[in-house]
Amino acid sequence: AHIRAIAPYQAGKPIEELAREYGLDPEGIIKLASNENPLGCSDRVRAALAEAAGALHGRYPDANGFDLKEVLAARHGVQANWITLGNGSNDLLELASLALLDEGTSAVYAQHAFVVYRLSTQARGARHLMVPARDYGHDLDAMLAAIADDTRLVFIANPNNPTGTHLSGPRVRAFLESVRARHGDRVAVLLDEAYDEYLDPEERADSTQWVREFPNLIVTRTFSKAYGLAGLRVGYALAQPALTDLLNRVRQPFNVNVLAQIAARVALDDTDFLARTYALNRAGRVQLQDGFAALGLDFVPSHTNFVLVRVGDAARVNGELLRRGVIVRPVAGDGLPEHLRVSIGLPEENARFLDALKAVLQG
Ligand code: PMP
Repeated sequence: AHIRAIAPYQAGKPIEELAREYGLDPEGIIKLASNENPLGCSDRVRAALAEAAGALHGRYPDANGFDLKEVLAARHGVQANWITLGNGSNDLLELASLALLDEGTSAVYAQHAFVVYRLSTQARGARHLMVPARDYGHDLDAMLAAIADDTRLVFIANPNNPTGTHLSGPRVRAFLESVRARHGDRVAVLLDEAYDEYLDPEERADSTQWVREFPNLIVTRTFSKAYGLAGLRVGYALAQPALTDLLNRVRQPFNVNVLAQIAARVALDDTDFLARTYALNRAGRVQLQDGFAALGLDFVPSHTNFVLVRVGDAARVNGELLRRGVIVRPVAGDGLPEHLRVSIGLPEENARFLDALKAVLQG
């Protein structure tokens, strides 16, 4: 019964599907719906993948991801036994739920937070305690108060999807201290930093240091967004060895494939690509937000690679945009029926989207 109660995940519509549905040329369609990197992935990753494909063997991937973990461990200044690799960071959310939740337990998360927190909690038959959002973001005081006797896991997305909001480092740290002071290690906190690379340097928190201080903390990161590897599916979690050990007990042995392990390792080193991604995103965010202001639309100031904008009848506007070959993301399922979430694309894609939106709203 609890599985039947799950409202399924709705992925962004693929370009080919829209082309078929509306008889459009796929080349003319733009997709700003899944927070992907509009630059694709780095040329160095592409070259490494081509070489790896040429040398592809018939064996399973390294079940422990030794090489990738070594690079990540060096990057974060921890040992490899502090790292869990995932098939995307989604996998890690599932692993935390699998390891920590069960019927008779509960998880706390925020309204308008990443939908998989609810899905993975429901899949375990655990209670999900959704805490109303404040200014579209997490209300940490209310989340602290919502922790019940049976709560084992709290999910925080920072920055958050689909709202693009951000919690400052001191606020998150104070929350971690309060959870620990009140509940000890009975309650784990999963801090999902999928969009960390898009933060301005002064906004970025030292979450690796928090992992050293808090034995109940799991920090997750992904290669899907700024690193441009969404299609390869790879992410990782940082946590102290005891908690990492629990995640690994429920992890599929070969959850990260051969090519993803290679690509992630090379991507981590390509700081030029990351810098270009960051700069392109910053400029695109200004372009979209200025465009929304010019159209008189409210938007939530974004700390990510997408912007949440209030368009009124979002279902109608979305339908009209689709007819014009523009795919964005409706978020009614996240409790936001008047908003659309628009991923930041290349400058010309952002411009085309804004033109289409203007035509729909004023046409
Ligand atoms: N966390 C957040 C907040 C996200 O927005 C996403 C992607 N939509 C993920 C996790 C999962 O991404 P992936 O599995 O590709 O790492």
